Amino acid sequence: MSAPSREALRRGWCPSTLKPMETGDGWLVRLHPPGARLTPAGLKQIAALAEAHGNGLLEISARANLQIRGVTAESHPILVEQLLAERLVDEHDGDGPQRLTLVSPLAEAGLIDAIVLAARIEEQARSVSGLPPKFSIIVDDGGLSSLDAFACDLRLVGVAQGFVALGLADRCWLGPLAEGEAAAAVGSVLAGFAHLHRSAPNGIRRLRDLPDDVLANLTTLPETTPPPVRSQPRRAGLFAMADDRFAVLIGLPFGRCDAGTLTQLAATAPEHAEIRLSPWRGLAFRKLAQGEAEQLLKLADTLGVITRDDDPRLSVQACAGSPACSRAEAPTMADAARLAEATADLLAQGATLHVSGCVKSCAHPTASDLTLVGRGGLYDVICGGTARDNAIATLDLSALLARLQPGEDIHARLSEATRTTRPRG
Ligand code: SF4
Repeated sequence: MSAPSREALRRGWCPSTLKPMETGDGWLVRLHPPGARLTPAGLKQIAALAEAHGNGLLEISARANLQIRGVTAESHPILVEQLLAERLVDEHDGDGPQRLTLVSPLAEAGLIDAIVLAARIEEQARSVSGLPPKFSIIVDDGGLSSLDAFACDLRLVGVAQGFVALGLADRCWLGPLAEGEAAAAVGSVLAGFAHLHRSAPNGIRRLRDLPDDVLANLTTLPETTPPPVRSQPRRAGLFAMADDRFAVLIGLPFGRCDAGTLTQLAATAPEHAEIRLSPWRGLAFRKLAQGEAEQLLKLADTLGVITRDDDPRLSVQACAGSPACSRAEAPTMADAARLAEATADLLAQGATLHVSGCVKSCAHPTASDLTLVGRGGLYDVICGGTARDNAIATLDLSALLARLQPGEDIHARLSEATRTTRPRG
């Protein structure tokens, strides 16, 4: 296997198994398990490879991608060779087209079979060249595990038995169309969009960049009403599934854990468990008997991972930050953990918080109620916007948290700490 070029490493924004991304703690290798699922034995193997060829840290991104951190130029070829030999990565991973689809880790065959439809769409997408990086498609079965909170370019939602509605940029809804015809319809939208992107690669990167009339011309499907809005699903805990089986959805704090944690989870799960990656930055263990599920949850509680939907860490997004990322200007993970604890009441009421090491905003490109962006060890404070919006103040978070007494109101302290503002450089 030839080594990735410096250009591929620098390009960075869409890493894969063969094209890792350079970060502050070495190369980041993203891998897509075949069929988007793992066995407990496979998870254990990946954890062991992360320990042997990376720095032992793993992540699950908000697009449900599994990532090994701290890989080196020397260890990368061996890691890839072993991932391929053990069939732990998709045969299309690496130099081929990126994976586009996101499916709930709890999806079951309901109104539609989202897992099967997503696989068909991936198959269609392989024949379309020139799609921009980060193009994303959500396939939602229309059931209880809604993915409405995740942004995407194309959204397919089950709206009746065997039928889906197709949303372009979440503003133009088409259909309903038969589940069996949906992948071909998506393929034709992808081909049309790839053509437009090629003609203006810097101006048209996402479907939302297109005006309504151009968007509508990507397909001849009739317009329909948007699917009904569903409530936010539970993001962690025990779930009763079809056929008297159970699933356990576990969140990794800010999407990260060490290899030892994954090894223990994999060792406790029964051999027949099916593991799927969760966009709530964790893992779903499926096909469990109730006792097996309860035992896994009990073990997870002792490991400090997230097992309850009301865990405040689920409402906080944080990127790798320093020292892991070379661009980081603040230790985001550590600060996010302390902030989650200090603002647990606010988060429980639905507030959202994003702690970013720099304006690149890898963990959460969209708006949050409060966004903190690292700058020279301090944080720029943005209310109700993204990391790229104007800051209203600069915050010395460590000083604020050091002054905060247990039970003290963070609002008063926050306004005191943000009294001094400074412009962005
Ligand atoms: S947002 Fe975070 S992870 Fe991304 S480049 Fe900036 S510091 Fe690094």
